[in-house]
Amino acid sequence: MQGGNKPKTGNLVTPGDWLGVIEEFTPGEGTYEENGAVYASTVGRLLIDNVEKRVKVIPIEARALPKKGDIVLGKVTQINKMLTFVDIGRVRGHDIANPFSGVIHISQISTEYVENTSDALKPGDIIRARVVEEKGELIQLTTVEKNLGVIYAACSKCGSELERTGNILYCKNCESKEIRKIASDYGRVKL
Ligand SMILES: [Zn+2]
Repeated sequence: MQGGNKPKTGNLVTPGDWLGVIEEFTPGEGTYEENGAVYASTVGRLLIDNVEKRVKVIPIEARALPKKGDIVLGKVTQINKMLTFVDIGRVRGHDIANPFSGVIHISQISTEYVENTSDALKPGDIIRARVVEEKGELIQLTTVEKNLGVIYAACSKCGSELERTGNILYCKNCESKEIRKIASDYGRVKL
């Protein structure tokens, strides 16, 4: 990390990650000092207190830490034209108390061309995704594989659960039809 981007509050850090120098801040819990530099001693979220000039690492459960290649479950929180933001709530089958923030780039949604994110994913959708990169502030996810994508979605008009008919989703309540990048087992997943 040294020489690259300066670590920021909220960053996910692992033992040995360079956090800064002692001229900037005092090493607090979850950190150690060596030759004037401060490093993380545990896996966790970085917390920099600019008033007290202290740095610490809030530990997180190591087994829940999403790693490249992991399958995760999450909820879409917001979307824009290019990006989908996801709260990751389950990692390798373990529910986690404090969700990780993930993001899916539009090119990582489907093998088919997606012009607008909203043609494939919508806020509130529950998705299964794979971690493509876990470094940095946001964990990067993909849903391109057949078994990845939306596993539960609610009608954006009336909120009822959408059912799958062929490759589209259908609302029995208000008869509206919606499109998503659905996982192959949509509608058959026990959450
Ligand atoms: Zn509906």
